[in-house]
Amino acid sequence: MTGRYVIHLPVRAPDLARAKMLGRTAGRSLAFLAAVNLGGITVSTEDNQCVRHWVFCDRKLDGGRRCVLRADHETPCTARLPGRPGR
Ligand SMILES: [Zn+2]
Repeated sequence: MTGRYVIHLPVRAPDLARAKMLGRTAGRSLAFLAAVNLGGITVSTEDNQCVRHWVFCDRKLDGGRRCVLRADHETPCTARLPGRPGR
């Protein structure tokens, strides 16, 4: 047993980009819970859950923190969203 579980939360979205945005929004809204692994959040179509798409970059940065930007961002990685205090 790893003690790790996955919560499947179906959402309605017009396309993959919006589904990934919903995944990031849901994750960030639950970021205050230490048990939530933001970097592990993925989305998939309901009828093909074996093909998952990462919603966060999650690249490891200096100091051990993780990048909090979307998975396919083109700007430099950062551990903190602009305009938001870090935790
Ligand atoms: Zn990044």
